[in-house]
Amino acid sequence: MFSSDQLNDIRTAHEHGVRPEGTPVAKGKQMQLTVVGSGDAFGSGGRSNTCFKLDSDGHTLVVDFGASALVGWNRLGLATADIDAVAVSHLHGDHFGGLPFLLLECQFVSARTKPLTIVGPKGLRARLEMASEALFPGMWANRWSYPLNIVEMGPGEMRETPGFQVSALEVKHPSGAIATALRVGNGTKVFAYSGDTAWVENLVRISDHADLFVVECYSGDKPIPNHIDWPTLKANLPKLNARRIMVTHMGVTALARRDEMAAAGLQIAEDGNILRV
Ligand SMILES: [Zn+2]
Ligand SMILES: [Zn+2]
Repeated sequence: MFSSDQLNDIRTAHEHGVRPEGTPVAKGKQMQLTVVGSGDAFGSGGRSNTCFKLDSDGHTLVVDFGASALVGWNRLGLATADIDAVAVSHLHGDHFGGLPFLLLECQFVSARTKPLTIVGPKGLRARLEMASEALFPGMWANRWSYPLNIVEMGPGEMRETPGFQVSALEVKHPSGAIATALRVGNGTKVFAYSGDTAWVENLVRISDHADLFVVECYSGDKPIPNHIDWPTLKANLPKLNARRIMVTHMGVTALARRDEMAAAGLQIAEDGNILRV
């Protein structure tokens, strides 16, 4: 859980970035989102697995790096050298399975020397080692050309990465470790992300007064265990006070109801979207 001080810090930082209509643009750091991957686990709609790139003041934090994220990354002509840190919501392949590929790319393709930090739930180090060794045996014994910092973060905790503060709350999504929703601030703007989860009240807290809340909606109609369906999301919209809400991680039935979601005032994530948070 956040302490009330932590919540207040984030909210105060957010409020500095808010301006009434007609006043000059408030001073403060901007934050830009590039949607690298907005897909579900199965690539529905031809979308890459989850990957959101956040840029602020010359720093880059990536939220989730799913199995196909590096393909999406290169399709958009992005450079992994820009990444300072990756924050992982939970330990499913479509959210962290691209990391072994990223670690190898950084060494053998882009010849990285600057540090790379990976923040994620407790158990991240062991699962990342297991995944890496399953995909590329011997990889974990590699001497990296760059400092690799693996930082585990419990629910209610906060970590600093270059240019950003990342915090997490627990959600409901069995993945062999605690699954989390994430909140990312840069002192001015706040980006919130549900991760994968059934509807839980912590989604209201993680997105409290966020500038952008990206929320999963895997199913368009029927309830699916441990995910959100559109009727449930729609029923809970009045509880959310984020300035904008964007839907991601849509399966086939959810993609079929995109028009209805847009009519309800939601943005629909598309791979390649670039927007100010
Ligand atoms: Zn997923
Ligand atoms: Zn998942």
